[in-house]
Amino acid sequence: MPKTDISSLFPNELEDFLRELSEKEGVKIEKFRASQIFSWLTKGVSDFSEMKNVPASLREVLERNAYIALPKIKTKLVSKIDGTVKYLFELYDGECIESVFMRYEHGNTVCISSQVGCRMGCTFCASTLGGLKRNLTPSEMTGQIIAAQNDTGEKISNVVMMGIGEPLDNFENTIKFLELVNLKEGLNIGMRHISLSTCGICEKIKELADMGTQITLSVSLHAPDGEKRKKLMPIAKKYSLDELMDACRYYTEKTKRRISFEYSMIKGENDTRECAEKLKNLLSGMLCHVNLIPLNRVKERAYEKSERQTIEEFSSVLERAHITVTVRRKLGSDINASCGQLRREHTKDIKA
Ligand code: SAH
Repeated sequence: MPKTDISSLFPNELEDFLRELSEKEGVKIEKFRASQIFSWLTKGVSDFSEMKNVPASLREVLERNAYIALPKIKTKLVSKIDGTVKYLFELYDGECIESVFMRYEHGNTVCISSQVGCRMGCTFCASTLGGLKRNLTPSEMTGQIIAAQNDTGEKISNVVMMGIGEPLDNFENTIKFLELVNLKEGLNIGMRHISLSTCGICEKIKELADMGTQITLSVSLHAPDGEKRKKLMPIAKKYSLDELMDACRYYTEKTKRRISFEYSMIKGENDTRECAEKLKNLLSGMLCHVNLIPLNRVKERAYEKSERQTIEEFSSVLERAHITVTVRRKLGSDINASCGQLRREHTKDIKA
């Protein structure tokens, strides 16, 4: 029987697991051990031997039947400008992912990955260059937060799912992750402190809406019309812009939460005055916010970022129509803190 990914279990599932182990191994395991073990896992132990108040005999049983999928730091870059930390984490099976730790006034935030690679194929993104390797388990998602928290020694209060991967393409694990991270006896991070960014998988946006989660939904729009969007994002061939906007409206109606539209500013592609006007018309009257992201140049891609002045002009067209806009402040610019490129470099090194 394969070993169980123990940190992906809810406390009640952990109790059931211990009961099964007790029958299988013919040993007595008290019920309260489940909460002891859960608490050690939340603290971020990487080995059962570290669970000091758990008897050695039970630790041995656990060792034989389960594993702890805590990501290990493989590379760590610290920004000299603002202290942002970028991690390349190694997973249980040797695959690598990236996470970024950022300090904001409203608290420490970690940007986590949801998949090893990505199959969405956005033409400006580094994470998708090698395709999708596999989904992350819930524990590999919570593990990024725990590992960053332990390494920095600072409590993390906010999580953004904007690293490598498409969270809604790994829906079940993402939902379980959100529930785990929210547990009082676990990391205890409230839903309103979590943002999830999606390229726009419409039926999953609606499913999230039906679940009534209070997370902040970010939708990667990047173009004001279907044709331009198809050029940048293959997902736009599957769902039309109308379908996407319908799903977004459904989300805001159901949850009463404002959607944040991500719009990467790419020179000559989506940053013209005409694009700004179209975007204004598309979004006017919607409960939303626009986040303009100066493109982060990826060397394998031909795109360039928009000029500062162009971004300002684009932004004022929206503001004049009373659409709230922010231009993303780039943290960790000296360590290239956007996701996908560190893993890409590492994967290339292995292949070379
Ligand atoms: N799959 C999710 C999360 C991706 S990363 C999604 O598509 O939303 C988070 C954001 O960064 C997305 O808006 C994504 O489109 C954007 N992004 C990816 N590569 C970028 C780049 N090179 N420059 C600027 N933004 C980029």
